[in-house]
Amino acid sequence: MLVHLLRTSVYSGNVYLLPDFGVLVDAGISGSETIAAASRFMDIEDLELVVLTHAHFDHSGGIVDLVERCGVRVALHGDDVALLSDDVGSVAVMFGGSAPDVFVDVVLSDGDLLPLGNGDVFEVIHTPGHTPGGVCLYHRESGSLFSGDTIFGAGGVGRVDLLGGDVRALVRSIERLVDLNVEVLYPGHGEPSSVNVGWQIERALAFARSMV
Ligand SMILES: [Zn+2]
Ligand SMILES: [Zn+2]
Repeated sequence: MLVHLLRTSVYSGNVYLLPDFGVLVDAGISGSETIAAASRFMDIEDLELVVLTHAHFDHSGGIVDLVERCGVRVALHGDDVALLSDDVGSVAVMFGGSAPDVFVDVVLSDGDLLPLGNGDVFEVIHTPGHTPGGVCLYHRESGSLFSGDTIFGAGGVGRVDLLGGDVRALVRSIERLVDLNVEVLYPGHGEPSSVNVGWQIERALAFARSMV
């Protein structure tokens, strides 16, 4: 699966572009930056869908511009919908912004198969812990896991001290990830990795357990 990590501001969460499907995983903190970066790889009019891994502003702040300028649909887990429109819950205030006011077109649930096009799907894995409605997106054929802020490379995990954070939920969520065959990890911050990914996920689980 062709995936581009878009280079945007240092404050932004990672934005991944799947140009073959017109899909973005996360919007980034600035829609104009995301659109400029995406336009290097495709006609932005052909963007169809933005899947938000969770509601936090560093991942969602750009969604308003993407909806207005590209007409994308927005997908987010139901348990993060209330956070998205809340200045504190979305941590927009931490970034000096205000919560994005957008309609969530596709309300995700655990186990959903989200169509990408050409018969490809994301398997939606509900991974609460960092936020109540965080998800990981798994593309089984390529072994690609988009992990949002649930886990990062080298055994890192998302913080659990923000509104809706829950370390025990995070442990249970990562326990579900260790069973997957992951060839490439695409985290919400830091670089993607295809080296010893299973070991990295096990490290993340051990780290999360150490915080309980
Ligand atoms: Zn983040
Ligand atoms: Zn986050």
